[in-house]
Amino acid sequence: MLPNILVYLSRTDREKVEADFKERPRYNSLNALVATSTLEMGIDIGTLNTAINNSVPPLTSNYLQRIGRAGRTSGSALITNFVQNKVHDLFYFQEPKEMMEGDISTPGCYLEAKDILLRHFFAFCLDSWSSTNPKENSIPGRLIALRIYNTDISSSGFLINRIISYIKANEKVLLSRFSFIYKNEVNPDVLNNIALVLSNESFYFRLRKVFEKLKEEYRNIDIKRKEIDKIIKEKHLGVNDDERKELEAEKKALWGLKRLIDKRSVLEHLTNTGLLPNYAFPETGVTLNAWVKGSQAKGSSVPPTDEQVEIVRSAEVAIRELAPDNYFYSQGNKLTISGLNTFDWNDPSILLTKKFCSNCDNIADNPMVSEATCPKCGHSSWASVSNEHKFVRLNSVKSVNVRDKSILDEKHPFWY
Ligand SMILES: [Zn+2]
Repeated sequence: MLPNILVYLSRTDREKVEADFKERPRYNSLNALVATSTLEMGIDIGTLNTAINNSVPPLTSNYLQRIGRAGRTSGSALITNFVQNKVHDLFYFQEPKEMMEGDISTPGCYLEAKDILLRHFFAFCLDSWSSTNPKENSIPGRLIALRIYNTDISSSGFLINRIISYIKANEKVLLSRFSFIYKNEVNPDVLNNIALVLSNESFYFRLRKVFEKLKEEYRNIDIKRKEIDKIIKEKHLGVNDDERKELEAEKKALWGLKRLIDKRSVLEHLTNTGLLPNYAFPETGVTLNAWVKGSQAKGSSVPPTDEQVEIVRSAEVAIRELAPDNYFYSQGNKLTISGLNTFDWNDPSILLTKKFCSNCDNIADNPMVSEATCPKCGHSSWASVSNEHKFVRLNSVKSVNVRDKSILDEKHPFWY
């Protein structure tokens, strides 16, 4: 029985669903879960007795993890595996034993990846900073506590500057203690890279930038709200004017957007912006800011309530799922992605320049002018300016919806 279709749940809702499914406190508790492969890790449900895979998992280890969720109490389970019309799936359809008895690779993490190691280094620095004075050196739970909008974030007392000055004052010790942990485990070049980004300050620049961007986000919301006030005033729009109502609603949505930023967890933000290690996805995530406008029932005097949600997806998934005009199913709503949230087109960090080789698959970030030929294949097209293209990084998208149209319930079945 599936009383509700819940797609992409907030953490609290997901935990509730998991508990309901595991402990079955009610006669009509959930007894079937449809989940992504994330469920293959960590969750232990004794009474689960059937597992269905909708495609053949990539590796034996994934396969065993997934089917191993079932039959933990009774020792027996019914496993069904759908085979899709793909080379990988069809191969294992012919050779199912290869999947069941194949080699199991030990899960691991690539310490050599310099970005990942740098995040671990930052986490290590935060830990060290905190342990020098746990009472004073703590990281607040929510962004609101930092009062970013009303604070001079360049002042030495601001959180990130306190952390930076601690790291700067202890650079050598921190680096040698950190390197010691990874001694013999990683290539010295990767550790040298950390020393480099510390000495050329680019590491500190990135740390500050995350907070500057947040301030910019707050500032842009404020600017937009003021613009709306200005329009209302200039056009002398009365309270009952439809245009005024529309504008007021937009103002309310902007206010909601500000509250969403306030409510963000500081550590989660540092994770999503790629400063701290992220176990769900390695790159910087993409944020969806969705607004679901409530609608007033006919003849009712109760004002409609709006709902605003913020969801972060990995960039890899977001490029498809959060593309403008796509639908994203979340917490009982079908959300239409209405566009990108871009804040300031004059900000050079919004546009990225990439260079493509006409002859091979080489792509370079911030191409160097001095290179006359492709560093990979030697082709002369490399020097041409027409092979340089500008891109916008997908940071956040917005979605504006009307509840009546976006709600998912039995009356509005959907397929996707
Ligand atoms: Zn090339």
